[in-house]
Amino acid sequence: MTQSIVKQNKRLALAGYRKETISQVAQKLVRKLLFGKKGPEEPDPDEEEKTKIAVINYNHGIGHRLLKAAKLFNIKVVFKFPHKLGTLPSSVNGEVRSCQKAQSTHTQFRTCKREVVYSIPLSCGRSYVGQTQKCINERLTEHKRSKGSLKTEYMNMQNHIEDCGCRPDFPNTGILGVSGRSRLARELSEAFWIMHMGEMNVSIASIKITDVEYRLMKSAFMSKKATD
Ligand SMILES: [Zn+2]
Ligand SMILES: [Zn+2]
Repeated sequence: MTQSIVKQNKRLALAGYRKETISQVAQKLVRKLLFGKKGPEEPDPDEEEKTKIAVINYNHGIGHRLLKAAKLFNIKVVFKFPHKLGTLPSSVNGEVRSCQKAQSTHTQFRTCKREVVYSIPLSCGRSYVGQTQKCINERLTEHKRSKGSLKTEYMNMQNHIEDCGCRPDFPNTGILGVSGRSRLARELSEAFWIMHMGEMNVSIASIKITDVEYRLMKSAFMSKKATD
């Protein structure tokens, strides 16, 4: 066992892979998940690196879903275990489309941004957290016009507003993350914020995250805050 690991380490080094522990990889990918990719005009130093990472000490602690998300951020993960080297494909860059500006579907509440996790403040002091692939203004327009809609994605907020009597403040909608690229990345990020806000949030996450996933995202968020 140990011998084969030594052998494999040598092979990885020759192939240009860098060894990292699963927790180093986890931190890296969770940071990207929460804080997203920088715009095309600002080069991302991590991107330059063309990271080739071999994960050592494979274990299940990180959660398979997070590892799956690694591929969305050009983090190439190579498993030493169970059997052979398996690289995850690198991500596909999201295409940039400009917004259609029809008032009826796109009210300019704030600056346009696509593929975001957002938080709509409510007059009762709580907020609604959601994620969208669309431009935030398109999404907010949908929320605004969703009265009577039977779509669950709009009903959570509508139900709360009816029960509570509060009003949404669309122009002050905040962007919590620009994970972009994939629904999974946005859903993980959305679920993190919903769990993090607890009672102060009125929405329901589209996916459930594990305690491990929550802790990883939280520690990434805290370390980002500390360096800001
Ligand atoms: Zn827009
Ligand atoms: Zn309310």
